[in-house]
Amino acid sequence: GHPRAPAEPLAPRDVFIAVKTTRKFHRARLDLLLETWISRHKEMTFIFTDGEDKLLARHTGNVVNTNCSAAHSRQALSCKMAVEYDHFVESGRRWFCHVDDDNYVNLRALLRLLASYPHTQDIYIGKPSLDRPIQATERISENRVRPVHFWFATGGAGFCISRGLALKMSPWASGGHFMSTAERIRLPDDCTVGYIVEALLGVPLIRSGLFHSHLENLQQVPASELHEQVTLSYGMFENKRNAVHVKGPFSVEADPSRQVPRMAAPSRLTSCQLSPWLA
Ligand code: UDP
Ligand code: MN
Repeated sequence: GHPRAPAEPLAPRDVFIAVKTTRKFHRARLDLLLETWISRHKEMTFIFTDGEDKLLARHTGNVVNTNCSAAHSRQALSCKMAVEYDHFVESGRRWFCHVDDDNYVNLRALLRLLASYPHTQDIYIGKPSLDRPIQATERISENRVRPVHFWFATGGAGFCISRGLALKMSPWASGGHFMSTAERIRLPDDCTVGYIVEALLGVPLIRSGLFHSHLENLQQVPASELHEQVTLSYGMFENKRNAVHVKGPFSVEADPSRQVPRMAAPSRLTSCQLSPWLA
C-alpha cells in the first residue's frame, strides 16, 4: 500500500504481539523466533502455549501457559485466542496483534503501519483468507439458525486490532465468552474474530497486502520489498516448500525458513555480516 502519515507516535511498549504456539513446536519453531525478531524488542511479544518449558522460561518471562488442550482442535485454538485476548485487555496496551509461530514479524514495519491509525478508533487489519466473505450458519437460539457472511483476516498471516475495537468486542470475547461465540458459528479462532468484528460489530476488515502466510506463494514477494512487509511466513504450499526468496550467508538447507538472512540477532550473525540484507 501507499505510505500513510503517522496518526500518533507509537513506542514498542504500545503493541502487544501474541504468538500462538504449542509445546511440541518450542524447539522446532519458537527458538528461531527468539533468536531473531522477538529478540529485537522482547517487551512486545508474549508467547501463548500449552505446556511447561523451563528452557523457554529462561529466554523470556513473557510466556503464558494457557492450560488449553494441546490438540489442534477448534476448541483448543479458540481457548488460546481467548487467553490472548484477556491478557491483551489486561496489559492496557494500544494494539493487539496475533501471529503464529511460523510467522516472521518485521517490528519496524509493524510499528509504522499501526502508527498510521488511531488506536482509539475501530481498526481490524490483516489479510483476508478468501477472495469472498465466508458463509457461515449462526446459531441464534436452541433451534434457530440463520446465515451470516463476513470477511476475516487469516490467523496464519497475522492481524491486528486497536484497543478501541478490542474493548467493544468484550461481550463476545472476554473471559470465556470467546469460546461460546466460536461454538455459535462452529468455525476456527481467526474466523470467530472476523465474526465478532464484522458480523456483530459491523466494523469492516482493512485489507493489507503487507501480511503474508504460507498459504500464498511467498516467492512472489519482491526481494526489494521484503523489508516493507509486516509479516512473512514459511512452510508448505501446494505440497512444495514455500519461503521468501532471499540471498544470504546460509543455504536453504541450513536455514529453510529464510528467516535468518532477513534479520537476525547477534546470536546468529554479526551486524556486519547482516548489513547487506538489512534495508
Ligand atoms: N498449533 C497449536 N496447537 C496444535 C497445533 C498447532 O496451537 O496442536 C498452532 C501452531 O503453533 C501455529 C498455528 O497453530 O502457531 C498453526 O499451526 P501450523 O502452522 O502447524 O498449521 P497451519 O499453518 O497449516 O494451519
Ligand atoms: Mn503454519
